[in-house]
Amino acid sequence: MQQVFASIITIGDELLIGQVVDTNSAWMAQELNRIGVWLKRRVAVGDDRNEIVHALDEQSKDTQIILMTGGLGPTADDITKPVLCEYFGGKMVVDEKTLDHVKYLFEKIFRRPLLERNLQQAEVPDVATVLHNARGSAPGMWFEKNGKVFISLPGVPHEMKGLMTNEVLPRLQQYFTMPFIAHRTLLTAGIGESFLAEAIKDWEAKLPSHLKLAYLPNYSMVRLRITGSGPDKTLLDQQLDREFTALKELVKEWMVVDEDKPLQVVIGELLKAKNKSMATAESCTGGYIAQMITSIPGSSEYYKGSVVSYANAVKEGLLHVSHDTLRSDGAVSENTVKQMVQGALSSLQADYAVATSGIMGPGGGTPEKPVGMVWVAAGNRHKIITQQFNFRFDRLRNIEMTAINSLNLLRKFIIENS
Ligand code: ATP
Repeated sequence: MQQVFASIITIGDELLIGQVVDTNSAWMAQELNRIGVWLKRRVAVGDDRNEIVHALDEQSKDTQIILMTGGLGPTADDITKPVLCEYFGGKMVVDEKTLDHVKYLFEKIFRRPLLERNLQQAEVPDVATVLHNARGSAPGMWFEKNGKVFISLPGVPHEMKGLMTNEVLPRLQQYFTMPFIAHRTLLTAGIGESFLAEAIKDWEAKLPSHLKLAYLPNYSMVRLRITGSGPDKTLLDQQLDREFTALKELVKEWMVVDEDKPLQVVIGELLKAKNKSMATAESCTGGYIAQMITSIPGSSEYYKGSVVSYANAVKEGLLHVSHDTLRSDGAVSENTVKQMVQGALSSLQADYAVATSGIMGPGGGTPEKPVGMVWVAAGNRHKIITQQFNFRFDRLRNIEMTAINSLNLLRKFIIENS
């Protein structure tokens, strides 16, 4: 079975000048991967005939599926459709089904008068198979040439996704015989990428060639993903499971979870399983941890809330940190974060709490307490553990590192102190 390769061409001046960030191709790549297609390349081009033609020529040299998004709209800068018509040697004709759909959208849904330029949305090259866009007026188009498939989709993410799911992916699965692609992912914390690579180098060197290991670092966490492809799904799963088990054993000291899940989800699941709750007392992270936790649907089941105690008066008033501690040890100190945990546990009526206090920069550091110095604490009513970090990044990154590391401290505490 031959590997099927794809490329994605995103079209639009707005992508080149950075006005719009290309999220389409990341999503499409994942979906293609799921059905066994390897994405070989992603390129962005402007709304320019020659650039589009050049990209089509180049990408079709070594990929069988060429996906495009963007430039299908009704405005003058949307030139993808006429360029494709010329490229595939067709002429523009009205697609009756699309015309009915466009009329229906304007009359019943948008309730706006239909302009001549909107009617042009129903014109397609007669050499294309029209892909129905249930979510918008610009249809998708499917072209075939020399055994290769060229697919043009609207740029609007919501419309592109609908077309990919309902039209493109099922058709690709029928058109090509795909090998299976499968992944195994785990998340580690507390060890850098290069140390991790050192710890697993003998195992990695012996991986069979159809299994590939990827290091995906993000702040102080590294995801390790093994990806494999093959014609036999059962065999592939067995091989992946065997290698994954060996990998998990090698990294068990640092492993957070053996699935592709963020830390906040892992903590949420731990708390739900134990029917326990948590709260946060945030000084230097200013609510960042609260935002991370509440971005997970269903977090109200276990998350009580946060006291963003940026000022010392709030640490004292709402979290009952002692005035003496703040004066003798300072706000960035082990004793302060311990008391912040105690205060959050009682004020917010939670089973577990985590607290942060540090100097995030760029100013505010002293020789004793330089920028990047952070104290974090996690605990329950019986025990509190603390950790000190010294980060050396910019303000935002220091905040993100503090948030991730304090959540990881809390995770370890929950596991060890149930
Ligand atoms: P429409 O028919 O709505 O005009 P279109 O095919 O002409 O769709 P574009 O005009 O190129 O699409 O883009 C429409 C909008 O979709 C852009 O303003 C942008 O917000 C978004 N968009 C386009 N391409 C991408 C992309 N690669 N990633 C994320 N968003 C995109």
